[in-house]
Amino acid sequence: MKEDILKVLLSEEEIAAKVSEIGAKISRDYHDKNLLLVSVLKGSVVFMADLMRAIDVNAAIDFMSVSSYGSGTKTSGEVKIIKDLDRSLEGVDLLLVEDILDSGKTLHYLRDMLSKRGPKSIRIATLLDKPARREADIKPDYVCFEVPDEFVVGYGLDYAEKYRNLPYVGILKPSVYE
Ligand code: 5GP
Ligand code: MG
Ligand code: MG
Repeated sequence: MKEDILKVLLSEEEIAAKVSEIGAKISRDYHDKNLLLVSVLKGSVVFMADLMRAIDVNAAIDFMSVSSYGSGTKTSGEVKIIKDLDRSLEGVDLLLVEDILDSGKTLHYLRDMLSKRGPKSIRIATLLDKPARREADIKPDYVCFEVPDEFVVGYGLDYAEKYRNLPYVGILKPSVYE
């Protein structure tokens, strides 16, 4: 697994420090709100698990699963709901928790769809942001790290369902997917 990593981009320590900082910010912003954290599976599970414990206001959680990628490294633009939310969004302050914003197409689609279900507010928290690659009109409200235009894995992010369990974020050797 580690031999496929070209370079560690974000260490475990750097990630932990930043996630606490963002968690504290979210706690301040949502102390008087009806917070629901929604993790977009599967890439954001590791971030979700750490972020929710860095938030010290009442928060409910839910999960949804969409597919936009298959096993490649480029977005298809097509978003399919694999698993929908378990609960209603009526009156909730929704915070979508994502692993990475790349083209932004997935989140753009999701936000539009979920906004029709009556939430009081919708915001986006993402571990990683690749602003250079943005195609859809969408901006995250909470970003842990901006990353360069390279394919990264680890801390939840996969390539062909591998590397999610790496504790850090690294750049994959192009030889793995070329
Ligand atoms: P978007 O719709 O923003 O182009 O793509 C969002 C999804 O593409 C992310 O949730 C993630 O699953 C996948 N993705 C985009 N860039 C990367 C990357 O550098 N590494 C990995 N592992 N997945 C990525
Ligand atoms: Mg994702
Ligand atoms: Mg993936």
